[in-house]
Amino acid sequence: MSPGDHETRARAAKDVRSWSIADLGSLLDRENIRHAYVMYENGEVRLSHKALAPIGAFFELSHDFAKHEAVFFGREEGIETVFTAFVHDTRRGLAQGGLRLWPYESVADLLSDGLRLSQGMTRKNALAGLHWGGGKGIIPLPPSARTAEEYKQSEFAEERRRLFEAYGRFVASLDGVYYTAEDMGTGTADMNVLLGQNRFTTCIAADRGGSGNPSAHTAWGVLRAMQAAWLHMRGTEDLGGVRVAVQGAGNVGAPLIEYLHRLGAKLIIGEFAPNIREDMRARYPDAEVLEDHNTIFDVDAQVFAPCARGNVLNADTIPRLKAKLVCGAANNQLGEPHDAERLQERGIVYVPDYLCNRMGITNCADEWAGYLEEDVQLAAERVYPDTLRVLRHARALRISTAEAADRLADIAAAELHPVIGHRGRRILDHLVRSGWSAGTTQKRTPRLAFVPAAHEPRIHRQAERAGAFSGNGPAVAAMPLSTAARPHLGMFLSPLLMDVEARSRGNAARRVIGLDHGGAALQYAVRESLPYDVNEITRADFVLACHDRHAAHDAAIRHQLGQTGIGFDPKAWLDPMSAETSEVVARLYYRLADSGRIRPGEYGGYRCPECATVLAASEVVDSDDGERCERCQSPVEQQISEQVFLDLGREARELTAAIEGGAVSFGDTKARKDVLAQLRDLKPICISRQSWWGNELPGRPDEVLSPWFSLAALAVEAAGWPREAAPEPMATVFVDSSFLARWVVPSQLIALATYGRPAFSHIEVHGAVQIVERDNEDEHPEERFDEDRYQYRTVLRKMSPRLGNVVEPASLVQRFGADSLRLWYLLSLRANDRTAVVLTESHAREARHAIARLNASLSSLLAPGTAPRETQPADDALIAKIGALGDEALAAYTRHRFDIAAKRFVEAIDQLAAYARSIERDPASGSGRDTAVRLVPVMARAFSPLCPFILTRFEAEVVQALRDRGRGEG
Ligand code: NAD
Repeated sequence: MSPGDHETRARAAKDVRSWSIADLGSLLDRENIRHAYVMYENGEVRLSHKALAPIGAFFELSHDFAKHEAVFFGREEGIETVFTAFVHDTRRGLAQGGLRLWPYESVADLLSDGLRLSQGMTRKNALAGLHWGGGKGIIPLPPSARTAEEYKQSEFAEERRRLFEAYGRFVASLDGVYYTAEDMGTGTADMNVLLGQNRFTTCIAADRGGSGNPSAHTAWGVLRAMQAAWLHMRGTEDLGGVRVAVQGAGNVGAPLIEYLHRLGAKLIIGEFAPNIREDMRARYPDAEVLEDHNTIFDVDAQVFAPCARGNVLNADTIPRLKAKLVCGAANNQLGEPHDAERLQERGIVYVPDYLCNRMGITNCADEWAGYLEEDVQLAAERVYPDTLRVLRHARALRISTAEAADRLADIAAAELHPVIGHRGRRILDHLVRSGWSAGTTQKRTPRLAFVPAAHEPRIHRQAERAGAFSGNGPAVAAMPLSTAARPHLGMFLSPLLMDVEARSRGNAARRVIGLDHGGAALQYAVRESLPYDVNEITRADFVLACHDRHAAHDAAIRHQLGQTGIGFDPKAWLDPMSAETSEVVARLYYRLADSGRIRPGEYGGYRCPECATVLAASEVVDSDDGERCERCQSPVEQQISEQVFLDLGREARELTAAIEGGAVSFGDTKARKDVLAQLRDLKPICISRQSWWGNELPGRPDEVLSPWFSLAALAVEAAGWPREAAPEPMATVFVDSSFLARWVVPSQLIALATYGRPAFSHIEVHGAVQIVERDNEDEHPEERFDEDRYQYRTVLRKMSPRLGNVVEPASLVQRFGADSLRLWYLLSLRANDRTAVVLTESHAREARHAIARLNASLSSLLAPGTAPRETQPADDALIAKIGALGDEALAAYTRHRFDIAAKRFVEAIDQLAAYARSIERDPASGSGRDTAVRLVPVMARAFSPLCPFILTRFEAEVVQALRDRGRGEG
């Protein structure tokens, strides 16, 4: 954004701050707008109407804007307010969140609240494991009443009913992308009115088949969270004799008090309503019921359970607390985000509100599936392990518990719904395409020749059936994919490059691809997911759990590779934990041991107590307070121990000679230099690990082989050993620069030691996939208005599940198709940067738009029913230009410059689109259809290695067109 742009936006955003709700209503009326939206994707804000530009600017500059997918506005005649629905994130499912009826001073307050609350719902739903995204509805209180409470009075009953009916129609018009529920200012009766207008309402009364009042379940969830936190702090979950101060004895507080009483806790009760106080005294004579409810913050309690209202933990109350644990049902307990750190600084463990009070939403979110009380009980039990997970995460990373919960929730939110996938996004697309914002009820669906979701899977299956991926030509390989995590964009670059290479060699190439078993990272992830300590189960059970996760990720990886169009022969799929490969690993070990290369020795290095294994220096990271384990972030210890080593000094010299003599080559000189340097100082490699997960280490039954040994075995197996005594090296391997030293070099050396030849003859190194994130540069943003406080700085981050910034390839494939995704990767490659491949939003847009243009141009040119026309000079000129670009692409493949091929493809699409536009303007300027028929094979030959699906599809259309013409002439 240029400084000028920024100023214009800041001015526009400031305007929004001065708008009242009535101003917004008048603006919509003036412009005759009934439905409007602001949508956001890939760095692009899309507005349904220009008049909404200030709101778009407000979002972009707002501290509360967290890449919300959409915000909708509605207006209905005769209703004195506006309607809003916020859709934050629909990856885990359709957006769900309560409907608030509340007075708002300004449009800015309304929008900030909606943005914040809908993101909160994403996190609450995700952390609870619900397959719902996050949303929120807000109706600003109509001017006829002064407070939400007053609006409940009977004089407003008729107006209220009309209001909710109209909002119900608004929700219906959104086609289910937003599901509504009860919240502040709304009640079950209102939900019943909404339900009369749409089928996207939850939290319905029990007499309509809904789930009814969740309060007792909420109280049970809070109790389980409290027990888990007590276990975390004191090593026991027994609350007998523990002094617990409960604020508020209402719907949730009262059953919580009862549960605590039964467990023998010493109760202190602060309640505002005198009649409830009396009732509490009568029921619990041993409890201390405070005369002044405000003194609850000062009492001598060990646990504080706020169950009354929000904003109870703030700069004023936190210093007064004597309790060491805060765990209660109230929503929005923290006055501001910084209060989480205030609590942490005072050594108070805070169980984030949305973690322990989730039962309200959990109870009703899944009522569409029918109601079973046991579901709710089971879900409440889940609060216990989840609380432990959050508290342990916070302790390990030394962050506040609120931040730990947010991070874990954000990771869960990135997971795609297992059944409906990216349906939310597709509904948004559909609302745009069908003219929702024009207020028409007639929905349009444009005709497209190529619909990725419909055509790609079929094309891939056909290729698989035809054996297109089990070539018997030269082998091309990609580095192994880690099963420590589900597939994400960071993992698919190597296999994609391998696939482009194989396709550019005419599909005769043999594709070699397999898995990294995940090693310590997978083991750590499994430990994290266990609700109990790992030592409570046996090694055998733990390994079984690792196997399950490995298998699940393996299946997801294979499936998504297929969706991305990356071909491989499933029979040749490599997995170090499979019976076949385990055997190869063992044979390899004995072969090396027999030749005297394996021997015991002393290892002076690091040990991670959490992962319980030795670490190489590369697995240790420096932090402000000492050295930490790269995986689990725990502090590491220095240690000297007995380990097993592999000595490959002789092979290092052989490999050096092979590189210098040109038998082993590299795509770039830096990689070559790095490898030669590594070989010069190669020390014996430690191959023993004190982990529970991995290939067996022969002779040391309690230990396993280092993952690098297993992966090197994978390379020799891929080359053909031991089926062949001395297999040919694989022609080309694509590898992330961080895998060069850790995988390529050991594989080359082990292959040389085993059968006298290297595993790979040409090595192409590419950068690790990174994404661009925005960070705030301002140190004290809270002191400023949104539009003034955000100066964004661009930071690059590696994509990693641990950072919660992963995107699964499937999610993009389902929305835009594999061709767009492939082109995005390839456009992001930079010629001379072997350290980072930055997937930017602008490249994503460029790729998507290019494929959409290609689709639109070819569909319009090939549309049936156009009469044949004379060939014009423009036709030949187009074919010549695109032919030349295609030749450049073909030459670029041989140099492994897939980025150049991708750029030529986009240029070719631009030429084609310009031609299609000129034909549309003046049909006599070219032959149109005939030219397209001639052009498609030219484009397919040059560019289908990059984007195979759309070009295969149009090739089929052309064949059909030629057949039809032949029939016509015959
Ligand atoms: P409620 O209105 O039934 O109970 C609140 C009680 O607190 C009332 O008895 C009220 O008199 C008392 N109170 C109000 N201000 C007080 C103060 N300053 N000091 C002491 N007592 C005070 O509400 P509820 O349904 O029990 O919900 C309580 C909190 O939990 C709310 O913040 C709500 O949003 C949250 N919550 C409730 C559920 C649920 O299932 N009901 C679910 C999630 C979150």
